[in-house]
Amino acid sequence: MNTNYIEELNESQYNAVTYDDGPSLVIAGAGSGKTRVLTYKIAYLLEKENGYNPWNILALTFTNKAAREMKERIGRQVGMKLARYLWMGTFHSVFSRILRAEAHHIGFTSQFTIYDSADSKSLLRSIIKEMGLDEKTYKPGSIQARISNAKNHLVSPAGYAANKEAYEGDAAAKMPAIRDIYSRYWDRCRQAGAMDFDDLLFYTYILFRDFPEVLARYRDQFRYVLVDEYQDTNFAQHSIVLQLTKENQHVCVVGDDAQSIYSFRGADIDNILYFTKVYPNTKVFKLEQNYRSTQTIVCAANSLIKKNERQIRKEVFSEKEKGELIGVFQAYSDVEEGDIVANKIAELRRVNDYSYADFAILYRTNAQSRIFEEALRKRSIPYKIYGGLSFYQRKEIKDVIAYFRLVVNPNDEEAFKRIINYPARGIGDTTVGKIITAATDNSVSLWNVLCEPLSYGLAINKGTHTKLQGFHELIEGFIADQSDKNAYEIGTDIIRQSGIINDVCQDTSPENLSRKENIEELVNGINDFCALRQEEGNPNISLTDFLSEIALLTDQDSDKADDGEKITLMTVHSAKGLEFKNVFVVGLEENLFPSGMVGDSPRALEEERRLFYVAITRAEEHCFLSFAKTRFRYGKMEFGSPSRFLRDIDMHYLQLPHEVGVSRSVDEGAGRFRREIEGGFTRSASSKRTPLGNFSSEQERRPKEQIIAPTVPRNLKKVSSVSNNNTSATSSSQSPIQGISAGQMIEHERFGLGEVVKVEGTGDNAKATIHFKNAGDKQLLLRFARFKIV
Ligand code: ATP
Ligand code: MG
Repeated sequence: MNTNYIEELNESQYNAVTYDDGPSLVIAGAGSGKTRVLTYKIAYLLEKENGYNPWNILALTFTNKAAREMKERIGRQVGMKLARYLWMGTFHSVFSRILRAEAHHIGFTSQFTIYDSADSKSLLRSIIKEMGLDEKTYKPGSIQARISNAKNHLVSPAGYAANKEAYEGDAAAKMPAIRDIYSRYWDRCRQAGAMDFDDLLFYTYILFRDFPEVLARYRDQFRYVLVDEYQDTNFAQHSIVLQLTKENQHVCVVGDDAQSIYSFRGADIDNILYFTKVYPNTKVFKLEQNYRSTQTIVCAANSLIKKNERQIRKEVFSEKEKGELIGVFQAYSDVEEGDIVANKIAELRRVNDYSYADFAILYRTNAQSRIFEEALRKRSIPYKIYGGLSFYQRKEIKDVIAYFRLVVNPNDEEAFKRIINYPARGIGDTTVGKIITAATDNSVSLWNVLCEPLSYGLAINKGTHTKLQGFHELIEGFIADQSDKNAYEIGTDIIRQSGIINDVCQDTSPENLSRKENIEELVNGINDFCALRQEEGNPNISLTDFLSEIALLTDQDSDKADDGEKITLMTVHSAKGLEFKNVFVVGLEENLFPSGMVGDSPRALEEERRLFYVAITRAEEHCFLSFAKTRFRYGKMEFGSPSRFLRDIDMHYLQLPHEVGVSRSVDEGAGRFRREIEGGFTRSASSKRTPLGNFSSEQERRPKEQIIAPTVPRNLKKVSSVSNNNTSATSSSQSPIQGISAGQMIEHERFGLGEVVKVEGTGDNAKATIHFKNAGDKQLLLRFARFKIV
């Protein structure tokens, strides 16, 4: 075996890794090596005598990025040749892959669209309107949450209607039509050939339940199933894991009940407890040593989580150095909080020689990021931000993607509605309303009506008819092109021919400029995607492939390889599983962290406390907590009081404000601070104080909403551009390689040194066969190839 399991694992970890006699559950506190156990266990299963084939192992992680990292790590242990065949990814990405392969069984095509949250909400809004219901009573957001919850519990519309008391609760009297909305929503998604995120789980479950031969195939395929962050799985996920492993019982899950932070998405902390009931022979492993953090951080986190009643009791210890106390900063305003944090980062870097990548600023809500961005920008400190409006959620990108979606799946209702009149082509809301009505009345898709508007009795004049025909022909043209054009070619055709590029280039306003740049970044992203897939041996990348890739990207997945030397800004939720040398947990105020949504619910408060536990336990060497007395929220200045969570931590582990010398806070004094956080937490307590500074001037200091640098799927040098007027986006003339011929030596970005064996084809189709010293023979399309002649 290549891996030295004994040396690199402690005894409990070793036992958990090498146990292969039945189901196992590793339950342990933060930083104790659960993810490490999972990684080593996979390596072990591959390396052991009569071990498993990589394609027989399924590992489910919380983000695609985590899966990638795990695969790389295993690759280093057992060789990439083996590791690349592992099935690894999030529940959603693995199951969408399975669903695409098996779609026909459940009445879908493999081109089904994945509706994001905005799509489902928009569809719900249409349905509520069509049913003549009041949007104030039937709020699309809350209906969406209810439907999502039902799906996560595997409750179909029929099941929902049959057991309405159980699922509707108090809402039954107020919103009797919920079940009808659910039922219509379900049908409409099917009609549109679309699945929402929850459907990816629900339909997988249905597929395995109703098609035993399909289940048998996947059971046979996945001989061992491993799950990270098990505490955040929901009932649907749990049930699918059970479907796959019930027979062979080859399953290992790891988790920490103290880090369960997704109950609002249906995650059930009881799944961990339930696990040993469902798999009665489960061997439970507990890990107690934390390898991530200093003793102080571990003890502080332990003291905090003890305040929760609902938990599996466990002690975690660290043998690392004692470390420094957890610094607490109080600021007069949120802006000052930003300055304090930025100054502290600069100071730590000076003193300790840290890299920027060693810092993370964690906040409860995305809206808090802007203050820190400003403070960091002012000091020219590089940062990367996760969340907020991610690249693929921007309007211009969603517009382009809607075209892609419609071309791949013309029945996609949300994509259809988004672009039928974008760019403006004179098709008004009335006409679209008529199309929707005709489609609903005839149980067909909007596209079906568009194809033959008159046979569906659409009352439209000749002009409108011509416009509809024009749109139809435009899309039909792209659909026809799919068979002989790849994602990149069709993508650029669509951007030009649909008129989108003309629309964003109509003037040089900063908004349009930034929209244009974003579209260019998207094109780069497609180009890069094609190049990467090609390197993996798939030369023909369709638009469907590209859409499948981006539909399930999460905030964390947008991390780019070249983002190394930057501070990370993210919500605590997305920091789960990660670690940083220095962590700042900011905005520790009542009604912010814990969130104001908690109300009187002890359960919700415990979840917030777990979230705070997750935040603190991300830190390896230094952890800082901060709060501001005044904060600009919801368009006005608010006065806050320190979070009760500060009081939950044993004071021995905290360094109070005057000792850390926070500017302007010194006069408050530690005594006062201590009284404040030990005392009452009524919101009015601090609002009586005179705020520092002048509100309007503070408001003026805030620049307009900044546009966050776009994140694209991967780091790529700019090789293409899209601009106005007959522009060709990347063409062969811009290919980095000119005049390449057999016998030449080249150096490839990924494969290293190689010799050109032959060159075939011309223009965009030119390709070279190259013999790489370390990677064998590869055929590369020159247009996408990333190498230089040496
Ligand atoms: P979380 O609950 O935050 O997900 P975790 O339990 O998954 O944490 P890991 O991320 O696996 O913990 O491990 C925390 C850190 O400790 C990692 O940097 C890991 O490499 C290191 N580590 C774990 N076990 C050992 C060990 N036996 N020897 C040295 N380092 C270890
Ligand atoms: Mg982990």
